[in-house]
Amino acid sequence: MPLSANNPDRESWLHVDKHSDFPIQNIPFGVFLTRNDIITIGTRIGDTAIDLGALHQLGYFEGIPLTDDIFLQDTLNDFIADGRQTWRAVRNRIAEIFDIENNTLKDNLKHKEIVLFRLDEIEMQLPVEIGDYTDFYSSIEHATNVGTMFRDPDNALLPNWLHIPVGYHGRSSSIIPSGIPVHRPQGQTLPKGATEPVFGPSKLVDFELEMAFITTAANDLGESIPIEEAEEYIFGLVLFNDWSARDIQKWEYVPLGPFLAKNFASSISPWIVTLDALEPYRVKGPKPVKPQLEYLQYKGKKSFDINLEVAIQPKGAKETVVSKSNFKYMYWNMSQQLAHHTVNGCPVNSGDMMGSGTISGPTEDSYGSMLELTWRGEKPIKMKDGTERKFINDYDTVIMRGYCENDGTRIGFGEVKTELLPVFTKK
Ligand code: CA
Repeated sequence: MPLSANNPDRESWLHVDKHSDFPIQNIPFGVFLTRNDIITIGTRIGDTAIDLGALHQLGYFEGIPLTDDIFLQDTLNDFIADGRQTWRAVRNRIAEIFDIENNTLKDNLKHKEIVLFRLDEIEMQLPVEIGDYTDFYSSIEHATNVGTMFRDPDNALLPNWLHIPVGYHGRSSSIIPSGIPVHRPQGQTLPKGATEPVFGPSKLVDFELEMAFITTAANDLGESIPIEEAEEYIFGLVLFNDWSARDIQKWEYVPLGPFLAKNFASSISPWIVTLDALEPYRVKGPKPVKPQLEYLQYKGKKSFDINLEVAIQPKGAKETVVSKSNFKYMYWNMSQQLAHHTVNGCPVNSGDMMGSGTISGPTEDSYGSMLELTWRGEKPIKMKDGTERKFINDYDTVIMRGYCENDGTRIGFGEVKTELLPVFTKK
């Protein structure tokens, strides 16, 4: 099926600002609560949210095999389970409905009142029920920086790193949408020079700049996904802030890896941008440093050119951009990650989420965490309000943004924006 929704020449009868992340070529999917307290699946063009449940009830998806209630749900899991042909047909149809040349909905005031919302009339929800969440560790720059700091500069990359997309199973219970504040976690840490641990609030709360992809049901128990098929099972991507407590992490991570330093919260942008919408932004990935085993070898362009940035906004002050990175720096791409994840026969379901791992670039201003940007706090960052940051302070808001751009077309993710609050206390 052609990707007619991606036609770069198409304009919409809905207003779209020149620098909007959401032109008619994007058509992301999300879940929102409407002004009438109804939860629905929707999309967005410019700053207008579109109720897909209502559009479907009004007959606008006629001819596409969809169940009646497919969009009248509080998660996208069932729609994602319908597979790529359905996602494409729906995106193509939405593009037609909102095409500037199409007057059907444009001239139907009654339908427009039911279907269209301003952004301040809706509340974005978590778009999927995340069954399983896996986090990778796929940026060579990040792994090298962390290995240098935590272990040994001469052997920063462990011997397996150039052969395996290293990952671990995280927890989905603490994945939250943009806008929900996060509390500073408490836990065990080993103070410098001490031999016994202490308990208390983490002093080194950090962000991790990541992207995450969401899968459809892909394989049965025992079955592997070949690398060349992997993208068929990737629905789309979100921005992902994998909150991390560095002092807790340093003490707990040996020998089984991240645990409580990571699972207190991870924040995502609420609109899932489809892999189809990102098609024009494919690029070649980094050249492998060492030969990779056959099941991890691929042909063509499997990386995506997505500009990323992180800003910190202290309470009542202007934000300061602290990092600019790009998704294309990832050493291991999503196809390799999914092929590796399933090579042992581990089943992947609709709504599973896979984090890329911190996306650090090659330069000091493109690192994807405060740990790296300030080099463990040794080089604090100057903020616009005159204060300094080594890590994240209480009442700081961390904002991540991402967009692709070429030939004047821009497809973006919006933002994931989260305030860090002090340790939770019962009211
Ligand atoms: Ca992470």
